[in-house]
Amino acid sequence: MSWFRRRAALAEDWEQIVERAVAHWAYLDDDERDALAGHIEALVTTKRWEAANGFELTDEIRTVISAQAGLLILGLDLDHYADVGAIIVHPSTMRFRRTSQGSIAGTVVDGDVDLLGEASYQGPVVIAWDSARHSARHPERGHDVVLHEFAHKLDMLDHVVDGTPPLPDAAARQRWVDVCSHELHLLRTGQGGPLLDPYGAADPAEFFAVATEVFFNRPVDVQAHKPELYAVLGAFYRQDPAERVRRRHGATATGAEAGAGADERPS
Ligand SMILES: [Zn+2]
Repeated sequence: MSWFRRRAALAEDWEQIVERAVAHWAYLDDDERDALAGHIEALVTTKRWEAANGFELTDEIRTVISAQAGLLILGLDLDHYADVGAIIVHPSTMRFRRTSQGSIAGTVVDGDVDLLGEASYQGPVVIAWDSARHSARHPERGHDVVLHEFAHKLDMLDHVVDGTPPLPDAAARQRWVDVCSHELHLLRTGQGGPLLDPYGAADPAEFFAVATEVFFNRPVDVQAHKPELYAVLGAFYRQDPAERVRRRHGATATGAEAGAGADERPS
């Protein structure tokens, strides 16, 4: 009864929605599900939700995006999303015309840019729903636009978009920078292995967002192949997603969240 009252702000079938549409839900224990339900409720009810022109938001859209965003801060708290001004949902990939600096100094390039999502400093998070929905069902692919964009918001919490979220002390920051700089270097020089999307090589902020995607979606593989990266991300997020996979699939699980080999990204 108290459960029902506490979640009264959510769609009546919110739990069926997450069971059906959010693969991570199956890996959570009761306490984690309770915490995530609270985050879903808070995000659905306290954030401003907007749909792109001609698109209509549904309970499923709000619930699934909130569940994925809430997963990221399951070990943290909702204050981490205080700067999320609005959540703007587009039906699919967004095409923008952008002017950017050219490769020759002083020149600019005009071009169309396709985006699955975007996060701006103290502004909205923009999400392409078809991609978010697919990733929520198939974390084994390693990609997730919701985890990616909300990771950018966590990076922005200390007002510097540099791939380093707020950390408790100088030692933790130094360790973070050492580990992530090393992995970024490997990615940039083609030695990063197949786990991390090459897009993460763009800059430290993209590296953190891309690393966050695989930390949650391919945790057993990240822990096995990049244990130091797994450790710093786990310390920041205060979560151990690889342990959740072992709890569900048994101690020998390797890439079990996965069906190992399901990775379709280029190496
Ligand atoms: Zn990004």
